[in-house]
Amino acid sequence: MINVIYSRIIEVYLWGHKKNSCKMFNKFIASILPYFPKKFIWIFSRSYIAGESMADAIRESKDLNSKGIMVTLDVLGEFIKTLDEAEENKREYLELIEEIQRSGIKGNFSLKPTSFGLLIDQEACYRLMREIVAKAAGYNSFCRIDMEDSPCTDMEIALYRRLHAEFPKNVGLVVQAYLKRTHSDLEKMLNMNTPGIPTNYRLCKGIYIEPAAISYKKYEEINQHYLEDLEFMFKNKIYVGIATHDKPLIEGAYELIRKYNVPKNMYEFQMLYGVTPKLRQSIVDAGHAMRVYVPFGKKWFGYSTRRLKENPKMASHIIKAIFNKG
Ligand SMILES: Cc1cc2nc3c(=O)[nH]c(=O)nc-3n(C[C@H](O)[C@H](O)[C@H](O)COP(=O)(O)OP(=O)(O)OC[C@H]3O[C@@H](n4cnc5c(N)ncnc54)[C@H](O)[C@@H]3O)c2cc1C
Repeated sequence: MINVIYSRIIEVYLWGHKKNSCKMFNKFIASILPYFPKKFIWIFSRSYIAGESMADAIRESKDLNSKGIMVTLDVLGEFIKTLDEAEENKREYLELIEEIQRSGIKGNFSLKPTSFGLLIDQEACYRLMREIVAKAAGYNSFCRIDMEDSPCTDMEIALYRRLHAEFPKNVGLVVQAYLKRTHSDLEKMLNMNTPGIPTNYRLCKGIYIEPAAISYKKYEEINQHYLEDLEFMFKNKIYVGIATHDKPLIEGAYELIRKYNVPKNMYEFQMLYGVTPKLRQSIVDAGHAMRVYVPFGKKWFGYSTRRLKENPKMASHIIKAIFNKG
């Protein structure tokens, strides 16, 4: 039965290409995948997710560390429904911080505020995340607040500002180049950047589908703003995690690093687990710091299918993964 479904999908894929209707095909796949057996979704998810357990994440992190690559760990579990789930997520992070410390892994932590109840109770979310950041700070480690979709942006900036006031060395934020507001957000947060303790942002394109009124849509436009935001950060001596797999952006970043003579302790490149490993290695070989985002956890199924709904473009990556695995 499953073979029939596979061949039907491949047929539709080829048809989609022929008709140049990739967008429609991607949407179609994204909408039906949540109804597929978990095993099927795992075929592609395993390329992008370290595994279900902490032991899986530790093993993959050690492997990346052995290649000279740092990690940032993400326990999957965003968009929860109750604060009990938020508590549970916090407990998992506290355990993870201990475990990373014990195993000597070169890594830090990425946190999605909705995993800690941002959309249920902002104050409770702050308290839970504060506990995690405080624990990480106790080990001189670092927590990155991931940026989620636009209804969360103001709340996530506010959360960052509050945590940063108490832990300026141990917490950073993600900014999304596709949002029209990002440049102005960076300007507003400039007063948080102090000599000796630079603010620390991860710059990414942004993964959610956002309304055209508030976001750039075209590839060229997004890339242009990405490089403008990056230049702004270099000029203002902000630490930046250059998060992209896009070769032209990586080359643009190299140029800016040369132009501003940016010291190696003021930036790193970042990529997602399992994505463009050859390009990643070329950056490491060129002598730049690299960090890989390693998601793991029991909630991988919800994470994968939600990602697909948010961005059906991912469907073509799934198909590629299926073909690659034969
Ligand atoms: C470390 C890290 C953390 C991130 N954190 C956030 C966050 O907090 N909030 C947020 O909104 N977004 C986040 N993102 C996602 C980001 O916003 C982009 O959606 C994603 O990185 C793809 O953009 P790109 O810059 O690689 O360029 P693209 O133009 O999308 O991709 C360039 C090329 O990279 C390859 N590629 C990209 N993604 C994949 C993939 N999944 N599988 C296979 N190949 C791929 C393809 O070959 C593609 O042609 C993060 C990304 C990274 C690397």
